[in-house]
Amino acid sequence: MITNFEESISDSAKGMKRSVIRELLKLTQREDIISFAGGLPAPDSFPIEELKEISCEVLDEDGKCALQYGATEGDHKLREILTERYVQQGLEITSDNLIILSSSQQGLDLTGKILLNRGDKFICGLPSYLGGLSAFSSYGGIPVGIEFDKYGMRSDLLEKSLIEMQNKQETAKFIYVIPDFQNPAGITMPEFRRLEIIEIAKKYNVLIVEDSPYRELRFEGEPQKMMYDLDTTGHVITLGTFSKIFVPGFRIGWLMAHQKVIDKFVKAKQSTDLCTASFTQKITAKYIEKGYFDKNLKLIIDMYRKKRDVMIQAFKDFMPDGVSWTHPEGGLFLFLSLPKDMDAEDLFKIAIEKKVAFVLGSVFHCDGSGKNTMRINFSFMDEKNNRIGVQRIAESIKLLLQNNVEV
Ligand code: PMP
Repeated sequence: MITNFEESISDSAKGMKRSVIRELLKLTQREDIISFAGGLPAPDSFPIEELKEISCEVLDEDGKCALQYGATEGDHKLREILTERYVQQGLEITSDNLIILSSSQQGLDLTGKILLNRGDKFICGLPSYLGGLSAFSSYGGIPVGIEFDKYGMRSDLLEKSLIEMQNKQETAKFIYVIPDFQNPAGITMPEFRRLEIIEIAKKYNVLIVEDSPYRELRFEGEPQKMMYDLDTTGHVITLGTFSKIFVPGFRIGWLMAHQKVIDKFVKAKQSTDLCTASFTQKITAKYIEKGYFDKNLKLIIDMYRKKRDVMIQAFKDFMPDGVSWTHPEGGLFLFLSLPKDMDAEDLFKIAIEKKVAFVLGSVFHCDGSGKNTMRINFSFMDEKNNRIGVQRIAESIKLLLQNNVEV
């Protein structure tokens, strides 16, 4: 190993940190711990038998292509299928508006690569998905956090922030939002708020990055129109992924945008990984074509609805006064707020002793706020453990409230 390795690394790499969540995940992989920490889908939702069958079919019918490099834009069939699904929802797009990515995390990374120079500002929610913040920060992006109300990012504060930037001859490169079942807050933006944000983006000529991994996991309530759909001016870039509605192990996501934007993503992706794996794209396309995808999605939705309900009931049964939580209409997470003066980090230490884990809400706040909040995943554990885990967290909170533990 060279001795001056630290001096050799780039400014970008110096700013890179290990993801707090991925590090926590290692700790919580212990079998005896009930982990609400990761954003993992339930392994029982993975269609292993169907995938064995389809993998063989793809190899038999199209093996030489399936094992070859593919187009950077993605597998033609898969792009057509995704486009058609959006068109059926009323979107006016063609497959030229869509590129397949090696996961939506790659989309976030490429967004940073394409849009951010070092020191450029971007807008995000307080709270916001840590993986997005890390991707943008690694290109030198500076987050400007906007507080939430029960409808998601506050549009009045967003505009105030953009005016302040304008007064200083600054601007933000984009507004990062997760409108459906937000990670971590579990909030869904109603249409009026989406429209307000789009209007502001147009007024100040800022792009919107709509990150939407959970949209199809709706358990109740009316679907809200995608921001991509509500915008008529090409200001929105939308990211999707198969990770939570099919399998994360294939690492397949996509990005939908104006053709000019897609062209930039194609170029940026070429220097990143040339193309997404052909084999898994072809399997995915066939899986959808054979009708397995929609059938399995219904099962996943039912499974997660039950898991959420068990968890919320456990909160009602066990949590002491002063603790509140969101009621997500879908997705994978709910967000818990402890009494104002309580620090979730103190709670975490007790909770780990009691063999239950969650993620500190503060890691999702780019300004370090949210110390009394925590993100709880309800999709990964089974219903029984969801209840036991909540009971353990409630006991830990009560201990902390009694102030009789050293932390
Ligand atoms: N965006 C959000 C909001 C997420 O929660 C996640 C995964 N937890 C991702 C993007 C990345 O998903 P993937 O890379 O698996 O597509």
